[in-house]
Amino acid sequence: MATVLVLGGGVGGVVAANVLRRRLGREHRIVLVDREARHSLAASFLWVMNGSRRPAQVSRPLASLRRKGIEVVLGEVERIEKERREATVAGKPIAAEQLIVALGADFRPDTVEGLEETGQTFCTLDGATRLRDALAEIRSGRIAVLTAAPAY
Ligand SMILES: Cc1cc2nc3c(=O)[nH]c(=O)nc-3n(C[C@H](O)[C@H](O)[C@H](O)COP(=O)(O)OP(=O)(O)OC[C@H]3O[C@@H](n4cnc5c(N)ncnc54)[C@H](O)[C@@H]3O)c2cc1C
Repeated sequence: MATVLVLGGGVGGVVAANVLRRRLGREHRIVLVDREARHSLAASFLWVMNGSRRPAQVSRPLASLRRKGIEVVLGEVERIEKERREATVAGKPIAAEQLIVALGADFRPDTVEGLEETGQTFCTLDGATRLRDALAEIRSGRIAVLTAAPAY
Protein backbone atom coordinates (compact mmCIF):
# COMPACT_ATOMS: atom_id res chain seq x y z
CA MET A 1 0.00 0.00 0.00
CA ALA A 2 1.39 3.40 -1.01
CA THR A 3 0.41 6.93 -0.08
CA VAL A 4 0.59 9.67 -2.71
CA LEU A 5 0.71 13.11 -1.11
CA VAL A 6 -0.44 15.93 -3.39
CA LEU A 7 0.47 19.39 -2.08
CA GLY A 8 -1.84 22.01 -3.57
CA GLY A 9 -5.49 21.77 -4.57
CA GLY A 10 -5.29 24.09 -7.58
CA VAL A 11 -5.61 22.96 -11.19
CA GLY A 12 -2.41 20.89 -11.14
CA GLY A 13 -3.05 19.18 -7.81
CA VAL A 14 -6.71 18.38 -8.44
CA VAL A 15 -6.06 17.01 -11.93
CA ALA A 16 -3.15 14.88 -10.65
CA ALA A 17 -5.22 13.53 -7.75
CA ASN A 18 -8.21 12.71 -9.99
CA VAL A 19 -6.11 10.96 -12.63
CA LEU A 20 -4.21 8.93 -10.03
CA ARG A 21 -7.42 8.01 -8.21
CA ARG A 22 -8.79 6.53 -11.46
CA ARG A 23 -5.58 4.61 -12.15
CA LEU A 24 -4.56 3.35 -8.71
CA GLY A 25 -6.28 0.61 -6.78
CA ARG A 26 -8.18 1.57 -3.65
CA GLU A 27 -5.49 -0.02 -1.46
CA HIS A 28 -3.38 3.08 -2.25
CA ARG A 29 -4.13 6.36 -0.49
CA ILE A 30 -4.20 9.72 -2.23
CA VAL A 31 -4.00 12.66 0.17
CA LEU A 32 -4.46 16.21 -1.14
CA VAL A 33 -3.55 19.26 0.95
CA ASP A 34 -4.55 22.91 0.50
CA ARG A 35 -4.89 25.93 2.76
CA GLU A 36 -8.15 26.91 1.05
CA ALA A 37 -11.38 24.96 1.51
CA ARG A 38 -12.53 25.72 -2.05
CA HIS A 39 -10.94 25.09 -5.44
CA SER A 40 -11.39 28.05 -7.83
CA LEU A 41 -11.04 28.07 -11.61
CA ALA A 42 -8.92 31.12 -12.49
CA ALA A 43 -10.05 31.18 -16.13
CA SER A 44 -13.52 32.14 -14.82
CA PHE A 45 -12.30 35.10 -12.74
CA LEU A 46 -12.89 37.44 -15.71
CA TRP A 47 -16.59 36.50 -15.58
CA VAL A 48 -16.61 37.36 -11.88
CA MET A 49 -14.96 40.68 -12.74
CA ASN A 50 -17.60 41.59 -15.31
CA GLY A 51 -20.44 40.40 -13.06
CA SER A 52 -21.64 37.53 -15.23
CA ARG A 53 -20.70 34.91 -12.57
CA ARG A 54 -20.85 34.95 -8.79
CA PRO A 55 -17.75 33.73 -6.86
CA ALA A 56 -19.64 30.64 -5.67
CA GLN A 57 -20.30 29.67 -9.31
CA VAL A 58 -16.60 29.44 -10.17
CA SER A 59 -15.44 27.49 -7.13
CA ARG A 60 -16.16 24.11 -5.59
CA PRO A 61 -15.47 22.69 -2.12
CA LEU A 62 -12.32 20.54 -2.17
CA ALA A 63 -14.12 18.27 0.30
CA SER A 64 -16.23 16.95 -2.62
CA LEU A 65 -13.11 15.00 -3.72
CA ARG A 66 -13.66 12.76 -0.69
CA ARG A 67 -16.60 11.13 -2.47
CA LYS A 68 -14.12 9.85 -5.06
CA GLY A 69 -11.82 8.37 -2.43
CA ILE A 70 -9.32 11.24 -2.25
CA GLU A 71 -8.44 12.32 1.30
CA VAL A 72 -8.51 16.09 1.70
CA VAL A 73 -6.51 17.84 4.40
CA LEU A 74 -7.01 21.57 4.94
CA GLY A 75 -4.01 23.43 6.30
CA GLU A 76 -0.86 25.35 5.55
CA VAL A 77 2.07 23.41 4.05
CA GLU A 78 4.86 24.68 6.25
CA ARG A 79 7.77 22.45 5.34
CA ILE A 80 8.69 19.86 2.72
CA GLU A 81 11.29 17.18 3.41
CA LYS A 82 12.03 16.07 -0.13
CA GLU A 83 14.40 13.25 0.74
CA ARG A 84 12.00 11.75 3.29
CA ARG A 85 8.95 12.53 1.12
CA GLU A 86 7.26 14.16 4.02
CA ALA A 87 5.43 17.44 4.49
CA THR A 88 4.50 19.33 7.62
CA VAL A 89 0.93 20.60 7.44
CA ALA A 90 -0.32 22.84 10.23
CA GLY A 91 2.37 21.48 12.53
CA LYS A 92 1.75 17.80 11.76
CA PRO A 93 3.97 15.63 9.55
CA ILE A 94 2.37 13.62 6.72
CA ALA A 95 4.58 10.93 5.24
CA ALA A 96 4.14 9.43 1.78
CA GLU A 97 5.82 7.12 -0.70
CA GLN A 98 5.23 9.63 -3.52
CA LEU A 99 5.08 13.40 -3.30
CA ILE A 100 3.56 15.79 -5.85
CA VAL A 101 4.25 19.48 -5.27
CA ALA A 102 1.66 21.65 -7.02
CA LEU A 103 1.64 24.76 -4.85
CA GLY A 104 1.44 27.20 -7.76
CA ALA A 105 2.89 30.70 -7.74
CA ASP A 106 2.28 33.35 -5.10
CA PHE A 107 0.73 36.65 -6.18
CA ARG A 108 3.06 39.41 -4.86
CA PRO A 109 1.80 42.91 -5.68
CA ASP A 110 3.91 44.20 -2.78
CA THR A 111 7.03 43.79 -4.94
CA VAL A 112 5.91 46.72 -7.13
CA GLU A 113 5.89 49.99 -5.20
CA GLY A 114 2.40 51.47 -4.86
CA LEU A 115 0.63 48.61 -6.64
CA GLU A 116 -0.81 47.00 -3.53
CA GLU A 117 -2.35 50.28 -2.28
CA THR A 118 -3.69 51.60 -5.58
CA GLY A 119 -4.04 48.68 -7.99
CA GLN A 120 -6.77 46.14 -8.59
CA THR A 121 -6.39 42.61 -9.93
CA PHE A 122 -8.50 39.89 -11.50
CA CYS A 123 -5.83 37.25 -10.84
CA THR A 124 -7.40 36.09 -7.57
CA LEU A 125 -11.04 35.40 -6.77
CA ASP A 126 -11.12 38.03 -4.02
CA GLY A 127 -9.39 40.49 -6.33
CA ALA A 128 -11.83 39.87 -9.19
CA THR A 129 -14.74 40.38 -6.78
CA ARG A 130 -13.31 43.69 -5.51
CA LEU A 131 -12.57 44.81 -9.08
CA ARG A 132 -16.18 44.06 -10.09
CA ASP A 133 -17.38 46.38 -7.32
CA ALA A 134 -14.82 49.07 -8.17
CA LEU A 135 -15.76 49.02 -11.88
CA ALA A 136 -19.42 49.45 -10.96
CA GLU A 137 -18.51 52.69 -9.16
CA ILE A 138 -16.66 54.28 -12.09
CA ARG A 139 -18.59 57.04 -13.86
CA SER A 140 -15.79 58.66 -15.86
CA GLY A 141 -12.02 58.82 -16.17
CA ARG A 142 -9.31 56.55 -17.47
CA ILE A 143 -8.26 53.06 -16.43
CA ALA A 144 -4.61 52.07 -16.82
CA VAL A 145 -4.18 48.37 -17.53
CA LEU A 146 -0.71 47.10 -16.76
CA THR A 147 1.16 43.88 -16.37
CA ALA A 148 4.20 43.73 -14.14
CA ALA A 149 7.26 41.91 -15.49
CA PRO A 150 6.12 38.29 -15.64
CA ALA A 151 8.25 36.42 -13.15
CA TYR A 152 6.80 32.99 -13.79
C1 LIG B 1 -7.43 35.38 -14.71
C2 LIG B 1 -6.70 34.13 -15.11
C3 LIG B 1 -7.11 33.42 -16.24
C4 LIG B 1 -6.45 32.25 -16.62
N1 LIG B 1 -6.88 31.59 -17.74
C5 LIG B 1 -6.27 30.44 -18.09
C6 LIG B 1 -6.72 29.70 -19.23
O1 LIG B 1 -7.68 30.09 -19.90
N2 LIG B 1 -6.07 28.56 -19.54
C7 LIG B 1 -5.01 28.10 -18.79
O2 LIG B 1 -4.45 27.06 -19.13
N3 LIG B 1 -4.57 28.77 -17.72
C8 LIG B 1 -5.15 29.93 -17.35
N4 LIG B 1 -4.70 30.62 -16.27
C9 LIG B 1 -3.52 30.12 -15.55
C10 LIG B 1 -3.90 28.97 -14.64
O3 LIG B 1 -4.95 29.38 -13.76
C11 LIG B 1 -2.67 28.57 -13.83
O4 LIG B 1 -1.63 28.22 -14.73
C12 LIG B 1 -3.00 27.39 -12.93
O5 LIG B 1 -3.96 27.77 -11.97
C13 LIG B 1 -1.75 26.90 -12.24
O6 LIG B 1 -2.12 25.73 -11.55
P1 LIG B 1 -1.31 25.20 -10.32
O7 LIG B 1 -2.01 23.98 -9.82
O8 LIG B 1 0.13 25.11 -10.67
O9 LIG B 1 -1.39 26.37 -9.24
P2 LIG B 1 -2.72 27.03 -8.51
O10 LIG B 1 -3.90 26.78 -9.36
O11 LIG B 1 -2.27 28.37 -8.18
O12 LIG B 1 -2.84 26.12 -7.21
C14 LIG B 1 -1.94 26.19 -6.15
C15 LIG B 1 -2.69 25.77 -4.89
O13 LIG B 1 -1.76 25.62 -3.82
C16 LIG B 1 -2.32 26.19 -2.65
N5 LIG B 1 -1.18 26.60 -1.80
C17 LIG B 1 -0.13 27.38 -2.15
N6 LIG B 1 0.75 27.46 -1.16
C18 LIG B 1 0.23 26.72 -0.13
C19 LIG B 1 0.70 26.39 1.17
N7 LIG B 1 1.88 26.82 1.64
N8 LIG B 1 -0.07 25.59 1.95
C20 LIG B 1 -1.28 25.10 1.49
N9 LIG B 1 -1.75 25.37 0.27
C21 LIG B 1 -1.00 26.15 -0.53
C22 LIG B 1 -3.16 27.37 -3.12
O14 LIG B 1 -4.17 27.68 -2.19
C23 LIG B 1 -3.72 26.82 -4.44
O15 LIG B 1 -4.98 26.20 -4.27
C24 LIG B 1 -5.34 31.78 -15.86
C25 LIG B 1 -4.94 32.49 -14.70
C26 LIG B 1 -5.62 33.63 -14.32
C27 LIG B 1 -5.18 34.36 -13.07
